[in-house]
Amino acid sequence: MTMVPRLFGTNGVRGVVNDDMDVNLALRLGKAIGRFMGGKVALATDTRTSGAMLKHAMIAGLTAVGVEVMDLGVLPTPAIQYYVKLHDDVKGGVMITASHNPPQFNGIKCIDGDGTEMPRAKEEVIEDYYQSDVPCVSWDQVGGVQKVSGAVERYVDDIVSRVDAEAIRKAKLKVVLDCANGAAVYTMPLILDRLGVRAITLNSDAQGKFPGHPSEPTAENLVDLISLTRESKAHLGIALDGDADRSVFVADGGEFVPGDRSLALVSKVMLKKKKGTVVTPVSSSSLVEDVVRKAGGMLVYTAVGSPIVARKMMEIGAIFGGEENGGLIFPEHQYCRDGGMTAAKMLESIVFFGPLSEQLQELPVYHVEKRKIVCSNQQKEEIMRSLSERCAQDRLDCTDGLKVLFDDGWVLIRPSGTEPIFRIYSESRDPGLCRERADKFEVMLLEYLN
Ligand code: MG
Repeated sequence: MTMVPRLFGTNGVRGVVNDDMDVNLALRLGKAIGRFMGGKVALATDTRTSGAMLKHAMIAGLTAVGVEVMDLGVLPTPAIQYYVKLHDDVKGGVMITASHNPPQFNGIKCIDGDGTEMPRAKEEVIEDYYQSDVPCVSWDQVGGVQKVSGAVERYVDDIVSRVDAEAIRKAKLKVVLDCANGAAVYTMPLILDRLGVRAITLNSDAQGKFPGHPSEPTAENLVDLISLTRESKAHLGIALDGDADRSVFVADGGEFVPGDRSLALVSKVMLKKKKGTVVTPVSSSSLVEDVVRKAGGMLVYTAVGSPIVARKMMEIGAIFGGEENGGLIFPEHQYCRDGGMTAAKMLESIVFFGPLSEQLQELPVYHVEKRKIVCSNQQKEEIMRSLSERCAQDRLDCTDGLKVLFDDGWVLIRPSGTEPIFRIYSESRDPGLCRERADKFEVMLLEYLN
């Protein structure tokens, strides 16, 4: 087993099964997590073939240090998060998932006692325990395992209660649902059933090798959903990633809706009920800000990362928030990304504001250029400093990386936290300006690198 210096990445611990993600790691990490959380800990997996293997090693680790394991079976990540949030005697949760990664990957993600994604500082403590290898408790302190039933139903109940279910039922909507053979198969058909929505399903059986298509919900991976939504004249196409914390959509007629556009559309639904603040990372399209302002709301930007968005939402009492990748957060439901809740809100959006194809036409159009520049981690800080000095006269937002604001767009230069690269995002309503600025900053970065 190759040890990486930092065990937890941006999304828990991930690796290729039986290469850098194996039962030894799961066992040892189980002991570390058990030591940290103590008491009762909830556990679930997504549909990956390796889920059972890693889960049993994790159970061995947790129980060996005295934890009582609440086994939830196979579920979406937001469903175990909801369970942990709901039960005060449950001290935390462990989700075995690699989200949208290919089927040879799996991962271990920790959930904090309030159901939110575990903050970095707590992961570091677990990591320290992992390095020291936690001793087992005496035989009479060993934990047990309880099978939990009903977690899915309560999660689905809560989602249905957060939308105008009566209005959605009356609208007699038809959707095409693509669960990517992932964990959404256990919740999404139930949600649609409860809302009286007729669903034509694609890849909606649990198959851990993801035979349907790769589980990252991009337009390229969703060609079947796009054509079936068009051909069946459905009101909406719904796709979820492997662990169902993110969802993306296809409009009636077959237009793919990128995550920033669905974030904007759902903002409108949320602001219809209650005026307030929406939170999103600095990398999100200005489209979101335009729509939020027009709907009478305010927008607050954060650094990139869904736990950061969620924490900011708690801090300021935001009414809604989310990322441009389809990970949307509904505070009344829970402070984490939820693909099922997002899909229910999108149905509500059609009922309130009409067909998605028409709503999309009303949105402003922004052009985006994205670039990646290879750069060693050691050089990043120095380059960021030079860039800031060079741009000192410009209007800047330094929330995460350097965002240079123009009257008609912006450029964001951000060192990646996980890879030896810089990312450049340029956005403008003018495609020429958008490209020109991306080129300019790319050349500038390359100059510093040489
Ligand atoms: Mg995911």
